Amino acid sequence: RAKERGRGSVCCFDPEMDEASRDRRTLEADLRTAVADGDIKLVYQPVLSALTGEITSVEALARWSHPKKGPIPPDVFIPLAEECGLIRTLGEALLRLACSDAVWWPSSVRVAVNLSPLQFQSGDLSQTVESVLQDTGLAANRLQLEVTEGLVIRDVERTFMELERLRALGIQILMDDFGVGYSSLSYFQRFPFDKVKIDKSFVDHITTSRASRAIVQAVVGLGEQLGMGIVAEGVETEEQMHALVAAGCTHLQGYLFSKPLTTIEMDERLSALHDASLDGIRRISAQA
Ligand code: C2E
Ligand code: MG
Ligand code: MG
Ligand code: MG
Repeated sequence: RAKERGRGSVCCFDPEMDEASRDRRTLEADLRTAVADGDIKLVYQPVLSALTGEITSVEALARWSHPKKGPIPPDVFIPLAEECGLIRTLGEALLRLACSDAVWWPSSVRVAVNLSPLQFQSGDLSQTVESVLQDTGLAANRLQLEVTEGLVIRDVERTFMELERLRALGIQILMDDFGVGYSSLSYFQRFPFDKVKIDKSFVDHITTSRASRAIVQAVVGLGEQLGMGIVAEGVETEEQMHALVAAGCTHLQGYLFSKPLTTIEMDERLSALHDASLDGIRRISAQA
């Protein structure tokens, strides 16, 4: 009997559910406006070489400050944008923004942009990316695209074809959040990822869990065999850093080194870095 009534009718008489879905619809409308008005911004978090400590890339992370509700985390508004058909528009706008910021940075620094699996479904992603590179003047080899396992389960053939096209342009393809969710070793059989980002959950436990350390070491070994760099994300303590370096991770990212920075802060950080290395060169040439 309860079944006959169906879930829909239960939902209609549940005032809490009703309020939740009203809130959601409002947030959806606000997001639509924010995307149209260009109110979704980017912050940038550096990724360092584990060998030299230099910044080798910078990951672009989306931020939305809601006019009334304040900051809404990307874990909330990115899935919302995916559900209400906004992600392609938003994704392209953010890619464009990241590339136009990155042209001002030293050419040794790449910019990493996160892609939603849904951005692969249109079939013209590589064309979109190519025209963004052309418009902004960013060299293809300075762009990295971060993808998650989620993308591979939807439309395997199309996805790998698009990845091939993007990689042929000179763009680096990174596997993000590796080791959690549905990520599978078989992806490495299908596609030569340039780098793998080990999920923060392994980094969190590397100093306390033998299993976490073993997993990180195994992924590093896989990377060495297949020529993929291994990035550890979410590094918060020096102890974690030492363990990750000992395990052989090639790159490190996390609050220990830097929180995500605004464009202006990142400009300053990178120009200081640039000036410092120029100073170094000047010192060396003065000695000669
Ligand atoms: P992600 O791509 O795996 O990004 C890493 C997340 O970890 C970021 O959270 C970053 O701020 C956070 N993080 C970095 N270092 C540390 C640390 O040391 N400690 C802790 N506790 N956190 C750290 P954020 O910015 O909230 O982004 C969450 C997720 O939202 C991202 O995970 C990504 O999946 C998604 N996202 C963010 N920006 C975009 C975007 O522009 N497009 C798409 N499609 N997804 C995005
Ligand atoms: Mg990422
Ligand atoms: Mg990640
Ligand atoms: Mg993540």
